[in-house]
Parts: sequence; structure tokens; C-alpha cells
Amino acid sequence: MNHDPNCIFCMIVRGDAPSLKVYEDEDCLGFMDIMPQSEGHVLVIPKRHAAQIFDVSADEAAKLIRVTHELAGAVRNAMQPDGVMLAQLNGADAGQTVFHLHFHIVPRYAGQKLALHASKMGDTETLKTHCEKIRAALHDTA
Ligand code: AMP
Ligand code: ZN
Repeated sequence: MNHDPNCIFCMIVRGDAPSLKVYEDEDCLGFMDIMPQSEGHVLVIPKRHAAQIFDVSADEAAKLIRVTHELAGAVRNAMQPDGVMLAQLNGADAGQTVFHLHFHIVPRYAGQKLALHASKMGDTETLKTHCEKIRAALHDTA
């Protein structure tokens, strides 16, 4: 597996940094965003290090989107938001702050503005509760 020793998401893949995992298979990992922009914000990454969508094959991108599709459904069932936003940023000028490819799954709630991007740590107990809810929803649909 191709890992970048200085990459926080590679550290999460290796188990060298903590994360609240909602999903794992041989290629992809889904976990709670530590600075959520809304309740239930999940990130989906390939395990193999790649900075941008342009650095993976079409097949790898397709696998990542398949998993994102499944997890977005579980987030929707668990969190019952009014809408769900998917985002994927390539390059600092596009707003990317962690240079390991990822999709954001961001539930949207009517009348609620998004918290600023990567700005405020979420409450650990709340993140754990949302993680469990999403895992349970994934289990129900699997
Ligand atoms: P982006 O700006 O698209 O690169 O998004 C990076 C995301 O990673 C932000 O939403 C951060 O809150 C999130 N993030 C950064 N470090 C961690 C971490 N250790 N665990 C979980 N999420 C993280
Ligand atoms: Zn990485």
C-alpha cells in the first residue's frame, strides 16, 4: 500500500492516528470529520495515498464514488437531514487542506448554515454518537 509518512489520512489508514470509522474495506475508509461542518459530516478516502482525483485511475475513482454513494445513503438514513451535500476539493486553490483524496458527505438541515470549513473541533462524544448511528444505518442497508 502506497503511504505518505507525513499525511494525516495515511496515518489514520495505518492506525497511527485516531479516527471514528464508519466503514472500511480493502480499498476505502469512511470516518467522521473531526471538524464537522454539520452534524454527521463524514469523509471517504482511498487507503492508497493519492493527493487529488487526478492521481487515481478511473476504476479507483469509481470505487471511491460507489462507497461514497453507499455511505451517503447511510448518513441520510441515520441523520434524517433535509439534504445531503457531496464535495471533493482538488488543490489548495480549490480549498483543499488535507492533500489525500477524499469525498465529503455533509448533511444539510433546513435553515442551518454550514460551519466554517476545517475550523472548529467537534465534541468527541457527539461525534461518537453520530458515528454509531451511521454505522447502524449502514448495517441495516447492507
Ligand atoms: P479538505 O479541505 O477538503 O482537504 O478537507 C479536509 C477535511 O479533513 C476537513 O473537513 C477537516 O476538518 C478534516 N480533517 C482534518 N484532519 C482530520 C482528522 N485527523 N480526522 C478527521 N478529519 C480531519
Ligand atoms: Zn495520504
